[in-house]
Amino acid sequence: MADDADVIVVGGGLAGLVAATEIADAGRRVIVVDQEGEQNLGGQAFWSFGGLFLVDSPEQRRLGIKDSYELALQDWMGSAGFDRDEDLWPRRWAEAYVAFAAGEKRGWLRAMGHRIFPVVGWAERGGYDAMSHGNSVPRFHVTWGTGPGIVEPFERRAREAQARGLLTFRFRHRVDALTLTGGAVDGVTGSILAPDKVERGQSSSREITGDFTLRAQAVIVASGGIGGNHDLVRQNWPKRLGDAPKNLISGVPEHVDGRMIGITEEAGARLINRDRMWHYVEGIRNWSPIWPRHGIRILPGPSSMWFDATGKRLPSPLFPGSDTLGQLQYIMGTGYDYSWFVLTQSIIKKEFALSGSEQNPDLTGKSWLMTARRATNKGAPAPVEAFKTHGADFVVRDNFGDLVSAMNALAGDNLLKLDDLKTQIEARDREIANPYVKDTQVMNIHNARRYIGDRLVRTAKPHRILDPAHGPLIAVKLNILTRKTLGGFETDLDSRVFGSEGKVMPGLYAAGEAAGFGGGGMHGYRSLEGTFLGGCLFSGRNAGRAAAKAVG
Ligand SMILES: Cc1cc2nc3c(=O)[nH]c(=O)nc-3n(C[C@H](O)[C@H](O)[C@H](O)COP(=O)(O)OP(=O)(O)OC[C@H]3O[C@@H](n4cnc5c(N)ncnc54)[C@H](O)[C@@H]3O)c2cc1C
Repeated sequence: MADDADVIVVGGGLAGLVAATEIADAGRRVIVVDQEGEQNLGGQAFWSFGGLFLVDSPEQRRLGIKDSYELALQDWMGSAGFDRDEDLWPRRWAEAYVAFAAGEKRGWLRAMGHRIFPVVGWAERGGYDAMSHGNSVPRFHVTWGTGPGIVEPFERRAREAQARGLLTFRFRHRVDALTLTGGAVDGVTGSILAPDKVERGQSSSREITGDFTLRAQAVIVASGGIGGNHDLVRQNWPKRLGDAPKNLISGVPEHVDGRMIGITEEAGARLINRDRMWHYVEGIRNWSPIWPRHGIRILPGPSSMWFDATGKRLPSPLFPGSDTLGQLQYIMGTGYDYSWFVLTQSIIKKEFALSGSEQNPDLTGKSWLMTARRATNKGAPAPVEAFKTHGADFVVRDNFGDLVSAMNALAGDNLLKLDDLKTQIEARDREIANPYVKDTQVMNIHNARRYIGDRLVRTAKPHRILDPAHGPLIAVKLNILTRKTLGGFETDLDSRVFGSEGKVMPGLYAAGEAAGFGGGGMHGYRSLEGTFLGGCLFSGRNAGRAAAKAVG
């Protein structure tokens, strides 16, 4: 039977698009199959903040940040904590990926028209020692145009390849199985789903109108992770993070269903590190949801005070923006699956950013004027102010007693004691008057303000939380929000998937989140942030180039 193409790519997200464009550029024929409609092209990356991990970039140097491959690798390894036999390929991917981020990543993107916002963010700051988790320096480079800005060059290249007849899209085609002949993967079979005009990101119909079979010399699985499927998240939840949360909100659309991972595993692929995942603890319920249980992650600056459900302040160094999984582990250890930020209007205005392209119309719309208002406006950016007004998890009051009563009413369990909370906040407030302090969060704030980027747009001037001049007071109930899958299919540096007994499965490749962003988990246990989109770029590129060569 004649092949329908040289290579089939399952998934039209960022990893799939990158792989497909590399295949077409090598002169090979490729079909991109996606269960969603054309309106969804780009997958999760479209919704993303577009943050990219880059090392020793011109943007960093302009801001006086001294970074290097060695420092970044030290940080990466400290965060990853590789400690398993199956970390062989993840570790190799990590080394190669950090080299990519310190090397050709920026130039490769730039040649395609990609641009970066000049203020570099400082995510996952750690707070332990030099060899432990966290970014020693700011490295989170936001794409000018956010998520759509990172999808755009690859969609453009894909459309050009489509016009040349080398690339074909098959939307609303859901893969249900991989086909194998003599142990080699040589195609896919699946269901054709009914056309559906839902808006991008919304759940689409699963009505089946037919079936399909496609054949090729190679198949690349780029189907994303499991974050939209809470049953799978709970099933794979690691004991080290406590019990799985009862209440979860979704930081990803429903198509991130993990179904293709099971299908690929069934065909013989080796899935490793399935218990490693990256979920956030600063999730808020979206008052204007696009997908089911839609939650938004607050990217917090360092000043909000953080309390668990019982009103106990989170211990050092679990301050906003320090150690996502450390916070998750601590919170799940309290027996409750939520926590609280308490802050002021001065803090929210400068320090709250919301992750997601639609929550940042200034950066997404590439408007310098609107973006400049972040530094000059009296209020927070409009989407943050909208959450303050409409968000179910926000409490805003002028008076501290009223604030705590409203927090108790919102949580419904009366766990917070006014005097207890007040004592902790007043103690922290006393440390503000003196630059030499013992409160490590306040030290952190002083440290952050030594970085010009933070001082300009991310860290409020230190002030007393209970100072009415900085009011009103704000409390935010924080939920656990699913997002990324860190484990995945074990792959070599050509993105070839291993089967049983450590043997590569002929014809099968994996990229992006399905491959744990490379190797089956190049992040290890934790991430330095901005490493997921970059992981799609790197693993998608490797998969596309290697597959194109192999079918040549
Ligand atoms: C709101 C938000 C903000 C984010 N911000 C950042 C950020 O700033 N920096 C960063 O690095 N990362 C960020 N991320 C993460 C990043 O966007 C994702 O990890 C990445 O885009 C995943 O890409 P992917 O191609 O692997 O998978 P996906 O984007 O999930 O694409 C997979 C595609 O495969 C299709 N598919 C699945 N199963 C099948 C099947 N059986 N048959 C056919 N098709 C199938 C799906 O429909 C989908 O289109 C963010 C994510 C979100 C949601």
